[in-house]
Amino acid sequence: MPASIAYRGRFAPSPTGPLHFGSLVAALGSWLLARRADGEWLVRVEDLDPPREVPGAAQAQLQTLAAFGLHGDGPVLWQGTRGAAYLQALERLLDSGDAFVCHCSRTALARSGGIHRRCIAGARRPDPAIRLRVPAGTAIEFVDAIHGRMRQDVSSTVGDFVLRRADGLWAYQLAVVVDDAAQGVTDVARGADLLDSTPRQILLQRRLGLPTPRYAHLPLVLDEAGRKLSKSQAALPLDERAPLPALRVAWRVLGQNPGAVGAAGSPEVFLAAAIAAFEPARIPHAPVAFRAAMHNTTVALGD
Ligand code: GLU
Repeated sequence: MPASIAYRGRFAPSPTGPLHFGSLVAALGSWLLARRADGEWLVRVEDLDPPREVPGAAQAQLQTLAAFGLHGDGPVLWQGTRGAAYLQALERLLDSGDAFVCHCSRTALARSGGIHRRCIAGARRPDPAIRLRVPAGTAIEFVDAIHGRMRQDVSSTVGDFVLRRADGLWAYQLAVVVDDAAQGVTDVARGADLLDSTPRQILLQRRLGLPTPRYAHLPLVLDEAGRKLSKSQAALPLDERAPLPALRVAWRVLGQNPGAVGAAGSPEVFLAAAIAAFEPARIPHAPVAFRAAMHNTTVALGD
């Protein structure tokens, strides 16, 4: 285990394409929270799903972060190298009876809305998945630094969830929990699209006897029609040659005072001014409209 530290955050992109504006909000937000706390900030490449990966995307993402002045402390952790650690965690869960081998197909589960509550497979498959058992009534509560008290009944909303897929790939939920603990991450700051994954991760931490970090879920950025950014213009790759305009918009999405960074002429100067002026309490919990943030008035799109 790494030496304990008061604050260690991380940014963990999946290399499925270039970093876009939504990723920048997560990167900048997590970086600012870490720097503001005098803590460390790590970068982890979540290369768990080779079929969905774009060749060269991981290196391009790291290069983009560097061009934006966001440098991690210490070496990048590549999840593709971490299979032995995930296997060890999985075996522990199988040994304790918390995980089980599951032969159910997606088609069979369609009848229960894709939620697995008990095995209903008639036939055994050569390539079963492994799931975490989530007994009825399993609810997880946590306090998010931005969203406040959250509660999810994991059994009724998610059911028994996959730890290792039928195709042999590791599930994000298991890998992220193992790596957050292995890297000594104390604070997870990431996009609010992952808010409903957090209860599953806390449940896994408890089953594995791992500590639970603090969580802060940063605002999602939506287009004018209220759609996820990835479907719109603003999901265009970040332009490494012009980091400042995107950094300024990301700063506004985070609810911060635009005047505080107005004069910056380089990412380094921008980031130094941003750390000094950053007010975490101003981070909005509602999604933010990209167009509004571009035009200097961050408008929350309802609650
Ligand atoms: N890899 C995930 C993503 O790119 C983020 C996972 C996390 O921060 O926990 O959306």
